[in-house]
Amino acid sequence: MENEHIVILGNGISGVSVARHIRKLSDKKITIVSGESDYFFSRTALMYVYMGHMKFEHTQPYEAYFWKKNRIELKKGWVSEVQTAQKVLIFEDGTTLKYDRLVIATGSKPNKFGWPGQDLKGVTGMYHKQELEAIEAYAPNNQICKRAVIVGGGLIGIELAEMMSSRKIPVTFLVRESSFWNGVLPAGESEMINRHIFNHHIDLRLNTNLKEITSDENGRVKSVILQETGEEIPCGLVGLTAGVSPNIDVFKDSEIETKRGVLVNRFLETNIESVYAIGDCAEQHEGIGERRPIEAVWYTGRMMGETLAQTICDNRIAYKPGHWFNSAKFFDIEYQTYGWVFSKPREGEAHFHWKHADDTKCVTVCYDSSSRRFLGINTFGIRMRHQVFDTWLNERRDVDYVIENLCDANFDPEFFKHFESDIISAFKNEAQVEAA
Ligand SMILES: Cc1cc2nc3c(=O)[nH]c(=O)nc-3n(C[C@H](O)[C@H](O)[C@H](O)COP(=O)(O)OP(=O)(O)OC[C@H]3O[C@@H](n4cnc5c(N)ncnc54)[C@H](O)[C@@H]3O)c2cc1C
Repeated sequence: MENEHIVILGNGISGVSVARHIRKLSDKKITIVSGESDYFFSRTALMYVYMGHMKFEHTQPYEAYFWKKNRIELKKGWVSEVQTAQKVLIFEDGTTLKYDRLVIATGSKPNKFGWPGQDLKGVTGMYHKQELEAIEAYAPNNQICKRAVIVGGGLIGIELAEMMSSRKIPVTFLVRESSFWNGVLPAGESEMINRHIFNHHIDLRLNTNLKEITSDENGRVKSVILQETGEEIPCGLVGLTAGVSPNIDVFKDSEIETKRGVLVNRFLETNIESVYAIGDCAEQHEGIGERRPIEAVWYTGRMMGETLAQTICDNRIAYKPGHWFNSAKFFDIEYQTYGWVFSKPREGEAHFHWKHADDTKCVTVCYDSSSRRFLGINTFGIRMRHQVFDTWLNERRDVDYVIENLCDANFDPEFFKHFESDIISAFKNEAQVEAA
């Protein structure tokens, strides 16, 4: 139906991708709704606003005229209810918006685990624009915020630590695990990142849980108390970065089926006809291949948006994300992963690990120990080309081929030192030791 109204709830990468691709394919009426910001912005760039590398306006990939030119209406407001029988969204201010088809793209929210004091002033996650504004207000400098405590050692926690360091605010970083992100990273990598965090003068506390957050007389954070030792750490900001979960409270009383996220099939369709979900808030009934049922990463949101636009424009296709990849940054060390490298080799798998003597670069390659098929690679401090690994995974190359041809995948700029010959000789040495 060419004149139907597609309403997209959420103006993040997922919502905007589906809107752009519907517009490429059709003349349907499109409205994007969000309570967070007037325009789409790059969430992954938020840290650089605090760090002074860019202004908030610079995180917006499209100029304001883009939306009008492409006939995509933007509506700012918080939706408080969805009535699927009437096909209507109800906003907090009582206004309504009718839709013919609804795309749910409401993203994530920071986890809170019921800690005493978690809602005090100066306690915040680091996900939404409003949270960045709270961080700016409570931690503008090291005179007002004499210490920040960050709770939860994942990708967002380490970004927040870097943000605080950029303004010379001392940081205590509470990590429940025995080593940073060791549920995901193999030991050699995780331990290298521990040392890198310490080298940035962060007070990293491993095996440490938050017990409670205390308040001053104005309802503002005063300190945190640690579970294991009872130690009290005075602070002006607490960053809650113990993961995120789908932002779906608004659908809990609707007919739309939810679990942790909004449940969808392979076509990103919910249990309600003409209602779809994509991005961080969508949960597959069963993970695709080795993937988790919920994938809270930027590029999967974009891919889901592109895929769903086809279905909405009468070319129903399933979401097929291809080989897993991801990237992040731990202070000065860039991290990339292609294919699957689990924290410990699974049955029938082997890891080859190489680390440079300067303790800021390493590589872990995972392969099948009997067929020697290459399964995945993690690289730290060395940039690699996504396309090359994607091809090698598709071609089911063996590990020997991948190591031998690693220089073809290198993406570091000209004049950067290359380490492939070191990696190849370490790999050959290890093979000789094993054979002996
Ligand atoms: C600091 C940070 C760094 C990150 N770094 C990386 C990275 O390096 N690589 C990577 O792959 N991923 C990264 N991510 C994750 C990535 O940003 C997310 O996976 C992605 O932005 C999710 O996009 P989305 O469109 O699904 O949802 P979102 O971007 O969350 O957009 C959803 C929008 O819907 C709005 N909304 C929700 N409910 C309502 C409602 N009831 N009414 C109105 N509006 C509503 C929200 O306010 C929000 O604006 C990072 C995330 C953060 C916070």
